[in-house]
Amino acid sequence: MQKRDKTLPYGRHWISEADFEAVKRVLESDFLTLGPRAAKFEEKLASYIGVKHALVVGNGTAALELALRACGVKPGDKVITTPFSFVASSNAVLFNGASVEFVDIEKDTFNLDSGLIEEAVSEQTKAILPVHFAGQTCEMQQIGSIAKKHDLVVVEDTAHALGAEFEGKKAGSFGKAGCFSFHPVKHITMGEGGAITTDSQEVFERLLLLRWHGIDRDAKGGRGIGFADDVKELSRNHRVSDIACALGLSQFERLEEFLQKREEIAKRYNEAFEGLEGITMPITKPGRKHAWHIYCVLAEQRDRLFKFLREQNIGVNVHYTPIYRHSLYTKMFGLNPSDFPRDFPNTEYVFKRIMALPLFPKMSNQDTEYVIAKVKEGLKALTRRKG
Ligand SMILES: *Cc1c(COP(=O)(O)O)cnc(C)c1O
Repeated sequence: MQKRDKTLPYGRHWISEADFEAVKRVLESDFLTLGPRAAKFEEKLASYIGVKHALVVGNGTAALELALRACGVKPGDKVITTPFSFVASSNAVLFNGASVEFVDIEKDTFNLDSGLIEEAVSEQTKAILPVHFAGQTCEMQQIGSIAKKHDLVVVEDTAHALGAEFEGKKAGSFGKAGCFSFHPVKHITMGEGGAITTDSQEVFERLLLLRWHGIDRDAKGGRGIGFADDVKELSRNHRVSDIACALGLSQFERLEEFLQKREEIAKRYNEAFEGLEGITMPITKPGRKHAWHIYCVLAEQRDRLFKFLREQNIGVNVHYTPIYRHSLYTKMFGLNPSDFPRDFPNTEYVFKRIMALPLFPKMSNQDTEYVIAKVKEGLKALTRRKG
């Protein structure tokens, strides 16, 4: 198949006429910052996830940082999490003065291995932060019971998992809080934006303060009085504009369509790669509804296949470099890189082989078939070279 001219990215947004109109209406209105569209978006998200509250913030990283704080994570605490994630999930722990305790992942789902969590629990452990990798939820039943047994809070990183389900329940409804991102590569976008979902009134009220400089706007007798505010704790401005929320609301209308398109492409890949040598397809465990944020394969000769596909203008990507391998973490926790294969055998195994193929709703059938043809071509060339 002939090489395409333009690089096909691994993920991207899809903006419609309706999105343009929705944003334009805000620009013509009196309210640009956090306002009526934010409230509407929150209502919509909470009801979709099946929780009492949702709160929008500037981005997914802020959502994680604030959710952990609102759930009581403080300096000196430890949070158990996966090293196989975008660095923001662990950074959010560090921002709170707490430290991370990495637990190895499952080789087949790339999710935190819930069977290893309990032995990592110590006196200092305060929370578990599972990341639903690629859009497949972690083993939430087991994680929930470990948390209950040891009195830990669960905060979900649901940045990959809008629409994902475990045993018929939505990701973001299992933990004390769920943290979403609306960056353009995620399921729906606000340009930049994030949100926290929670069933807890207490967490929700704390989050309201944390989003707004720590200001309690009706501390001294109700919002009716203009001067009743009190700064209760130190926090930043984590607001998001109503312009962004209008875009998010409009995008929400197409979420089911987006999810369906993602699933169709993933199914087509699965079908095309079935039985191919040198490549392992992602699996979906029983009881899960996959949200297909990314489609990751394991390739035996990943680096060479990666190079070949990039040369064919396919924007393959490696999600992720294990967080402990970043120098900030290696130094901060005094880690010895030669220990990594022993301490995190599955993470290291997956890291050496994983590759994300393009997957986004706006991809055409030709795009998908192009990727398939080139993956097959690349694998063939590599096997020949090897033999
Ligand atoms: C995107 C992402 C985040 C951060 O979201 P931002 O909105 O970019 O700050 C956090 N965790 C994971 C796993 C992500 O993929």
